[in-house]
Amino acid sequence: MATIFSKIIAGEIPSYKVAEDERFFAFLDINPVAKGHTLVVPKQETDYLFDLDDEWLSGLALFSKKVALAVKKAVPCKRVGVLVMGLEVPHAHVHLIPMQNEGDLNPAKPKLSLTQEEFKKIAGDIQSFFIP
Ligand code: 5GP
Repeated sequence: MATIFSKIIAGEIPSYKVAEDERFFAFLDINPVAKGHTLVVPKQETDYLFDLDDEWLSGLALFSKKVALAVKKAVPCKRVGVLVMGLEVPHAHVHLIPMQNEGDLNPAKPKLSLTQEEFKKIAGDIQSFFIP
Protein backbone atom coordinates (compact mmCIF):
# COMPACT_ATOMS: atom_id res chain seq x y z
CA MET A 1 0.00 0.00 0.00
CA ALA A 2 1.27 3.47 -0.89
CA THR A 3 2.57 5.55 2.00
CA ILE A 4 0.89 8.83 2.89
CA PHE A 5 3.91 10.63 1.42
CA SER A 6 3.57 8.75 -1.89
CA LYS A 7 -0.06 9.88 -1.96
CA ILE A 8 1.07 13.45 -1.35
CA ILE A 9 3.65 13.19 -4.14
CA ALA A 10 0.98 11.80 -6.47
CA GLY A 11 -1.35 14.69 -5.57
CA GLU A 12 -3.95 12.32 -4.11
CA ILE A 13 -3.57 14.09 -0.75
CA PRO A 14 -3.12 17.88 -0.80
CA SER A 15 0.06 19.47 0.49
CA TYR A 16 1.85 22.79 0.53
CA LYS A 17 4.56 21.95 -1.99
CA VAL A 18 7.75 23.98 -1.91
CA ALA A 19 9.94 22.20 -4.47
CA GLU A 20 10.13 19.13 -6.71
CA ASP A 21 12.40 17.47 -9.25
CA GLU A 22 12.35 14.06 -10.96
CA ARG A 23 13.44 12.21 -7.81
CA PHE A 24 12.55 14.36 -4.79
CA PHE A 25 9.62 16.30 -3.36
CA ALA A 26 9.52 18.92 -0.59
CA PHE A 27 6.44 20.20 1.24
CA LEU A 28 5.50 21.87 4.53
CA ASP A 29 5.00 19.65 7.56
CA ILE A 30 1.32 19.83 8.51
CA ASN A 31 2.22 19.92 12.23
CA PRO A 32 5.16 22.32 12.20
CA VAL A 33 7.38 22.99 15.21
CA ALA A 34 8.43 26.24 13.48
CA LYS A 35 7.25 28.36 10.57
CA GLY A 36 8.87 26.92 7.45
CA HIS A 37 9.21 23.37 8.87
CA THR A 38 9.65 21.39 5.66
CA LEU A 39 9.86 17.70 4.80
CA VAL A 40 11.99 16.42 1.93
CA VAL A 41 11.20 12.96 0.59
CA PRO A 42 12.49 10.70 -2.18
CA LYS A 43 9.85 9.66 -4.70
CA GLN A 44 11.19 6.14 -4.27
CA GLU A 45 9.33 4.45 -1.44
CA THR A 46 11.90 3.31 1.11
CA ASP A 47 11.13 3.25 4.83
CA TYR A 48 14.53 3.74 6.45
CA LEU A 49 16.77 6.59 5.29
CA PHE A 50 19.92 4.50 5.43
CA ASP A 51 18.37 1.78 3.29
CA LEU A 52 18.49 4.24 0.37
CA ASP A 53 21.34 3.41 -1.96
CA ASP A 54 24.25 5.82 -2.17
CA GLU A 55 22.96 7.60 -5.25
CA TRP A 56 19.53 8.29 -3.74
CA LEU A 57 20.94 9.18 -0.32
CA SER A 58 23.44 11.65 -1.74
CA GLY A 59 20.77 13.01 -4.09
CA LEU A 60 18.46 13.55 -1.14
CA ALA A 61 21.20 15.41 0.75
CA LEU A 62 21.90 17.68 -2.22
CA PHE A 63 18.23 18.36 -2.89
CA SER A 64 17.69 19.06 0.84
CA LYS A 65 20.53 21.57 0.69
CA LYS A 66 18.82 23.49 -2.12
CA VAL A 67 15.54 23.48 -0.19
CA ALA A 68 17.28 24.55 3.04
CA LEU A 69 18.89 27.52 1.26
CA ALA A 70 15.43 28.61 0.12
CA VAL A 71 13.92 28.09 3.59
CA LYS A 72 16.71 30.19 5.13
CA LYS A 73 15.95 33.04 2.74
CA ALA A 74 12.19 32.82 3.22
CA VAL A 75 12.04 32.44 7.01
CA PRO A 76 14.13 34.59 9.38
CA CYS A 77 16.31 32.20 11.40
CA LYS A 78 19.87 31.58 12.53
CA ARG A 79 20.12 28.25 10.77
CA VAL A 80 18.02 25.58 9.18
CA GLY A 81 18.36 22.47 11.34
CA VAL A 82 18.17 18.95 9.96
CA LEU A 83 16.34 16.15 11.73
CA VAL A 84 15.66 12.56 10.73
CA MET A 85 13.26 10.43 12.76
CA GLY A 86 10.88 8.45 10.61
CA LEU A 87 9.02 6.91 13.54
CA GLU A 88 5.60 8.03 12.32
CA VAL A 89 5.66 7.72 8.53
CA PRO A 90 7.45 4.70 6.96
CA HIS A 91 8.79 6.66 4.00
CA ALA A 92 12.29 8.12 4.36
CA HIS A 93 12.25 11.87 4.89
CA VAL A 94 14.34 14.74 6.19
CA HIS A 95 12.91 17.49 8.41
CA LEU A 96 14.27 20.99 7.69
CA ILE A 97 13.48 23.25 10.64
CA PRO A 98 14.27 26.98 10.91
CA MET A 99 16.06 27.53 14.24
CA GLN A 100 16.97 30.35 16.57
CA ASN A 101 18.44 28.05 19.23
CA GLU A 102 19.00 24.34 19.76
CA GLY A 103 15.69 23.85 21.57
CA ASP A 104 13.89 24.67 18.33
CA LEU A 105 14.86 21.28 16.93
CA ASN A 106 13.00 19.39 19.64
CA PRO A 107 10.21 17.38 17.92
CA ALA A 108 8.32 17.24 21.23
CA LYS A 109 7.80 21.02 21.11
CA PRO A 110 4.18 22.16 20.92
CA LYS A 111 3.13 22.32 17.28
CA LEU A 112 2.17 25.60 15.67
CA SER A 113 -1.37 26.05 14.53
CA LEU A 114 -1.20 27.90 11.21
CA THR A 115 -4.03 28.99 8.95
CA GLN A 116 -4.27 27.82 5.33
CA GLU A 117 -3.27 31.33 4.28
CA GLU A 118 -0.16 31.22 6.46
CA PHE A 119 0.84 27.82 5.07
CA LYS A 120 0.26 29.09 1.50
CA LYS A 121 2.29 32.23 2.10
CA ILE A 122 5.24 30.34 3.62
CA ALA A 123 5.20 27.71 0.84
CA GLY A 124 5.04 30.43 -1.81
CA ASP A 125 7.93 32.34 -0.22
CA ILE A 126 10.12 29.22 -0.07
CA GLN A 127 9.18 28.31 -3.68
CA SER A 128 10.19 31.76 -4.85
CA PHE A 129 13.70 31.38 -3.39
CA PHE A 130 14.22 27.79 -4.59
CA ILE A 131 16.89 27.46 -7.24
CA PRO A 132 16.73 24.06 -9.01
P1 5GP B 1 8.44 11.23 11.61
O1 5GP B 1 8.02 10.03 10.79
O2 5GP B 1 9.72 11.84 11.09
O3 5GP B 1 8.54 10.90 13.08
O4 5GP B 1 7.32 12.34 11.50
C1 5GP B 1 6.52 12.44 10.35
C2 5GP B 1 6.17 13.90 10.11
O5 5GP B 1 5.27 13.94 9.02
C3 5GP B 1 5.50 14.60 11.28
O6 5GP B 1 6.20 15.79 11.60
C4 5GP B 1 4.08 14.88 10.78
O7 5GP B 1 3.58 16.12 11.22
C5 5GP B 1 4.26 14.87 9.26
N1 5GP B 1 3.06 14.42 8.57
C6 5GP B 1 2.37 13.28 8.82
N2 5GP B 1 1.32 13.17 7.99
C7 5GP B 1 1.36 14.27 7.19
C8 5GP B 1 0.52 14.74 6.11
O8 5GP B 1 -0.47 14.11 5.73
N3 5GP B 1 0.88 15.90 5.53
C9 5GP B 1 1.98 16.59 5.92
N4 5GP B 1 2.24 17.74 5.26
N5 5GP B 1 2.78 16.20 6.93
C10 5GP B 1 2.47 15.06 7.56
